[in-house]
Amino acid sequence: MIAHLINTDVGNRGILDVYLRYRQKNPNFLHNSAKMLLDNYSKVLIITGFPVPPAWKPETDGPPGALAIYRAVERIGGKADILTYPEVENALASFGPSLVRKPKVSSYSLIVAVETPGMAPDGNRYSMRGIKVEREALDWAVVEAASLGIPTVGIGDGGNEAGMGKVRELVERFIPNGEKIGSVIETDELIVSAVSNWGAYGLVAEASVEFGQNLLEDWDENKIVSTLAKNGLIDGVTGEAEASVDGIPLKVHVAMVELLKALINAELGD
Ligand code: CA
Repeated sequence: MIAHLINTDVGNRGILDVYLRYRQKNPNFLHNSAKMLLDNYSKVLIITGFPVPPAWKPETDGPPGALAIYRAVERIGGKADILTYPEVENALASFGPSLVRKPKVSSYSLIVAVETPGMAPDGNRYSMRGIKVEREALDWAVVEAASLGIPTVGIGDGGNEAGMGKVRELVERFIPNGEKIGSVIETDELIVSAVSNWGAYGLVAEASVEFGQNLLEDWDENKIVSTLAKNGLIDGVTGEAEASVDGIPLKVHVAMVELLKALINAELGD
């Protein structure tokens, strides 16, 4: 049910077709991702940030999800660092997460990439509309982790993010510009979602059910997204510095979080 909920395609971007087919092949993707988190939470590197054209400012999708995972890791007794762009670091600063610029990948027990550009077949990284991303990429940490045998989880909603290489065929088939923009960077586990923040919240929700505690309980979507937008992150679809995500009004994201909290509590019998 959590996997269905986070794939409610409010933005109508074609991800529903990817999700339905991915689910046929890999029905337990959310459970497996949550298990990977709960089995490897001691030191987690969370990568996030997607710069959008024309100014290449990072967007509001990704960083809230990364922060939710960060808090969940701390709550279950692990440590986490966030690797992101300087503007996202500034926007997240008031929430106090540990930030790293040049992480030593070999020192981590798990890598989670939430909505960050993933390399396409031609070696570039692309926006949804097929414009080459003109910023430093962060997906190298995923590639390095894979070469070191460190477990990796990817979260994406468009096909062009690190991790979505796992469903590249589906991205080519169902996402506009999929052949060009679809990432080839794979992660061990992949969460497909309609909005990447929702994918991250879904991971925390599923982990909550399996851990036996509601790790999203005090998550204030309104406050988090509003603060990040006020501090300079932009809506990746509208390009405006407004408290919305992927062109979807904030109240819809607040409602999504409330539904996830209700599902967790129902599962936990609270
Ligand atoms: Ca997105």
